Amino acid sequence: MKLNKLLVSSLATLALSATLFADAHGTHWGYTGHESSKYWGDLSPEYGTCKKGKNQSPINIVTSKVEHSTADDKLEFHYVTPGIEIINNGHTIQVNVEDGSSIKVDGEEFFLKQFHFHTLSENQINGKNFPLEIHFVHVSKKNHLAVVSVMFDKGLENPIIRKIWDKMPHTVEKGTLLYLDYEEINKLLPKNKDYYKFTGSLTTPPCSENVKWMVMKNQITVSGSETREFLHNMHHHNNRPIQDVNSRIVKD
Ligand SMILES: [Zn+2]
Repeated sequence: MKLNKLLVSSLATLALSATLFADAHGTHWGYTGHESSKYWGDLSPEYGTCKKGKNQSPINIVTSKVEHSTADDKLEFHYVTPGIEIINNGHTIQVNVEDGSSIKVDGEEFFLKQFHFHTLSENQINGKNFPLEIHFVHVSKKNHLAVVSVMFDKGLENPIIRKIWDKMPHTVEKGTLLYLDYEEINKLLPKNKDYYKFTGSLTTPPCSENVKWMVMKNQITVSGSETREFLHNMHHHNNRPIQDVNSRIVKD
């Protein structure tokens, strides 16, 4: 019994790590042609949730339908460790963060593992896509996932993005070293931390659900040429289209 439990939990951890850090052993998927998002659910039985899930991400957040939450659900950021590694996994550019950074929300602590980028944005606000979206991926001790999303508006060049792009690997490879100070990571968050929250999924196969999503209401800027540089590096857009909201309610 104990052994079974242990096995299950280590398997869960394995699956989670595979999802968070690489997918070298999973079935190939992508954003174009026969591997594109509309086929994900058929590419492998393990990706079935991509097709059958009812709480999939990303979504279009319609602000007139957002319900105000009365709960005391302040989102606290505790990003105090540097980014130490940058990876091109073929689907995105990912920065791995040294252990020790976390958020606290709804009484649960979630530990920051990595952040990565999508162009165009995956989530929408009132039907609008933004040029770039960053996902900060967190895991709790109970293996619950939480993603904080920040949208970029087209505007001034972003010096932190510049610094990350300067180290961006052009081909799929193991991580290369990067040093991004915690203060620089914090600059990738808007000053005003108001957010929309809803339940969703990973936006990439296996599209696992029960992910706590928090989308910042306010944006930071990125220049047009910085976005184009990312797109050029990835060769194509890497945003999954919006999914049906179904019975979910977005709160703020
Ligand atoms: Zn993402």
